[in-house]
Amino acid sequence: MRVAVAVGVSTPPVATMRSSCTRRIVAVSYRFVSMHMAAAPLSRTLSTESVAARLTSAGLLRTKGLIGANWTDARDGKTMPVYNPSTGEVIADVPFMGSKDTEDAIEEIGQLITLEQGKPLKEAIGEVNYGASFIEYFAEEAKRIYGDIIPPTLNDRRILVLKQPIGVIAAITPWNFPLAMITRKVGPALACGCTAVIKPSELTPFTALAAVELALQAGIPPGVLNVVMGDAPAIGDALMANTRVRKITFTGSTAVGKKLMAGAAGTVKKVSLELGGNAPCIIFDDADLDVAVKGTLGSKFRNSGQTCVCANRILVQDGIYDKFAAAFSKAVQILQVGDGFSEGASQGPLINDAAIEKVESFVEDAVSKGADVLLGGKRHSLGRTFYEPTVLGNISSDMIVSREEVFGPVAPLMRFKTEEEAISIANDTNAGLAAYIFTTNVQRSWRVTEALEYGLVGVNEGVISTEVAPFGGVKQSGLGREGSKYGMDEYLEMKYVCLGDMNRK
Ligand code: NAP
Repeated sequence: MRVAVAVGVSTPPVATMRSSCTRRIVAVSYRFVSMHMAAAPLSRTLSTESVAARLTSAGLLRTKGLIGANWTDARDGKTMPVYNPSTGEVIADVPFMGSKDTEDAIEEIGQLITLEQGKPLKEAIGEVNYGASFIEYFAEEAKRIYGDIIPPTLNDRRILVLKQPIGVIAAITPWNFPLAMITRKVGPALACGCTAVIKPSELTPFTALAAVELALQAGIPPGVLNVVMGDAPAIGDALMANTRVRKITFTGSTAVGKKLMAGAAGTVKKVSLELGGNAPCIIFDDADLDVAVKGTLGSKFRNSGQTCVCANRILVQDGIYDKFAAAFSKAVQILQVGDGFSEGASQGPLINDAAIEKVESFVEDAVSKGADVLLGGKRHSLGRTFYEPTVLGNISSDMIVSREEVFGPVAPLMRFKTEEEAISIANDTNAGLAAYIFTTNVQRSWRVTEALEYGLVGVNEGVISTEVAPFGGVKQSGLGREGSKYGMDEYLEMKYVCLGDMNRK
């Protein structure tokens, strides 16, 4: 497999990288074993103390836990002895760690996400797992980059299709998932044998930097992953103009996506775009109320409403509207707002002042045009960028909140009468990323799913992202798919090979 080269550093194919890393680890271990065996063969007369002293001086008898890159004591300083079973002597004491210490080890990247992005720690740890799932999935998928053999139409030739890495890729990512939006691109890029230049959001660069540090520690050779940050338009222009960058993969706003798509035309790069949404969430009269409330809550209030797949318009059928509005408001009222590190908080701050000003202006516009504030509707008493989880009723399609992404904890409820009306309202937008429907009628669930002009549809489920399914939008929500086996195609070129003169004896 050929591998693309970024910033002039030549790199081996991924399969070779993996095996060379393994070989390096094995070689180092072998050196240790042979060094120590040669220095002093093990003897029954050696005392526990002298063996322990020798291993300590060789750096091999470690007596602390390892959290991140640091050898660490237990938080409360407690230790426990470890005995030589032959003599009963204490070899050394090690930290007696508990659940808090364990959480420290698991939570580091999660803490970094909470620190710079604000989402509650539990959600941030969820993102770490989600982000890691793309690395694991695509590492496995690397084994299945199959070519093809096609039956020829002329008997003197054979036809083959090879799949090869596309080349250097540029990955530009947003702030709302500082880890997962990177691994969803870089995972398949590495699996296909590409190198990458990553441009994280200026608001959340630390998680990206930590991720590439971990990649280096894991053995990804220097030069394969590169990170640049700073003047976004200048970086974008340089990436678009460079002929060695063969693909741009972008997640972010539709406006910036359009600019990049135009910029990529100059060098005819492959483009994939994951852009903004305006997700409808349709609750039919025949929905199970509890399922609908739980699903809508999960979709709307994840990351305090700051995801591209958050329900943006909640369409509720006449017959269930009042019951749903009451039950949903009751569920939203329980959501606890607070710093991402505080116990029990499920709603963190919005990302910055511009975000909270946008939410305020959308709510003001809706109220001025006749919306009812069923819950919240203003900044939270915590101040800064905290906003109260909000439910608005009586929303109409002339309000900004129903036409653009609010990207905040505001749930606008719109009333509709018929299935046809719901489909028409749902499709009346340039966006086409995620849609949700809640119904217990199986025929309706198929009918409506097929009529919705969206790339993703959740039926009786509000949280649907997973590494094994294709994620992406239609219309102005984007091009291409990320995740799943389909996500690999974005980073591969096909080469048709014709073998001629095959009848010669
Ligand atoms: P954004 O303003 O478009 O920024 C996204 C990235 O593009 C950031 O790294 C930004 O850098 C960079 N950027 C800005 N202007 C650029 C330019 N002229 N050239 C090159 N790069 C440029 O979007 P955001 O506010 O971070 O993210 C929110 C948006 O992302 C929402 O619309 C949301 O729906 C969408 N989103 C979509 C998906 C999806 O999968 N479809 C997932 C998550 C988010 P700086 O931050 O340094 O300016």
